[in-house]
Amino acid sequence: MRAPYASDPEASRGRRHPEAPSPPRDDFQRDRDRIVHSTAFRRLVYKTQVFLNHEGDLFRTRLTHSLEVAQLGRSIGRALGLNEDLIEAIALAHDLGHTPFGHAGQDALHECMSAADPEGGGFEHNFQSLRVVDRLEERYAAFDGLNLSFEAREGILKHCSRRNAEWLAANDPTGIGQRFIERSQPSLEAQLCNLADEIAYNAHDIDDGVRSGLLALEQLEDLPLIRRHLDAVRQAYPALTGRRVLFETLRRVLSEQVYDVIGTTRAAIEEKDVRSADQARALPVLVRFGAEMRRQTDEVQRFLRANLYRHPQVVATTTVARDVLRELFQVYVAEPAQLPSRPMAGRGTPRAVADYIAGMTDRFALQEHARLTGRRPDWPVRPRAD
Ligand code: MG
Repeated sequence: MRAPYASDPEASRGRRHPEAPSPPRDDFQRDRDRIVHSTAFRRLVYKTQVFLNHEGDLFRTRLTHSLEVAQLGRSIGRALGLNEDLIEAIALAHDLGHTPFGHAGQDALHECMSAADPEGGGFEHNFQSLRVVDRLEERYAAFDGLNLSFEAREGILKHCSRRNAEWLAANDPTGIGQRFIERSQPSLEAQLCNLADEIAYNAHDIDDGVRSGLLALEQLEDLPLIRRHLDAVRQAYPALTGRRVLFETLRRVLSEQVYDVIGTTRAAIEEKDVRSADQARALPVLVRFGAEMRRQTDEVQRFLRANLYRHPQVVATTTVARDVLRELFQVYVAEPAQLPSRPMAGRGTPRAVADYIAGMTDRFALQEHARLTGRRPDWPVRPRAD
């Protein structure tokens, strides 16, 4: 049963280009279907989450990460009576604007864009996700992009700098960036996707970190959130060894976080007596952890930053990846003839080059880099992942 505060497709603020309905699907189901059929969605399978695609077949990619966010989002959303189709659409699209090579790629493009066009707002992956669904996908005869509903676009634009929000205010009549100026919230479905994203990557980065050999199970014992489940697993299954100890622990951590979000959010909705989606937008964030879970989750995040994302081996790899994207950017801007021959809005401008590079998979970026520079990057050697 959908709650009164769930987003209602019948009450949607609509699409940028009006379209006839497509029964039996409602507007949010249609959004989800369009995302799944998009080119940008298929590219996610070859884009890095933390570990580069060539480092091992079992690490998360942007695609499997997005599926995990959708799964967590739908489970929690169902318990809260939110709109699962909208949650799924937002979750599957939330990372469409990510560059190849994960955050290293985004940092490199941001640097390049800020230098090439100091007034242009740099490169932000959330803003880029919106560009992908609003402009860059080329699938429909009548319009650029996927022409998604306001509610899906609102969820996809998770963060936005003041500068980009002002640009949207001047250039986008739908008011999609307005909340970053007014400091109001997006729908509860969008709030949930933000939190599901965080729950998903904390858990799977620990899993991938241990799989890669860069994190050891013993290090995790310093984190109370992990420690209490690890102890419980060891007590319940004293003979259990190896990765199943970790999997069973993470499974329990995820459950505890999911129950925490459901309980805390239900209480917040009740306390504020929320009766509509728009009422929720005007209140502080309602889909959230309780204070203690928030604190313990922040601790996990700090741990991952210090021990995984800044691990010398990860840094060595991301340094190489950053150089690859920087060099690609420089070549395309200097020699637009190297861009594909198909029509491209603003061809050769820094923005068009950034759009093109951001759309690349890890593998395609490396192929292009080899073609344009005649060099192959020197990746640091990592212990073998199994
Ligand atoms: Mg994500």
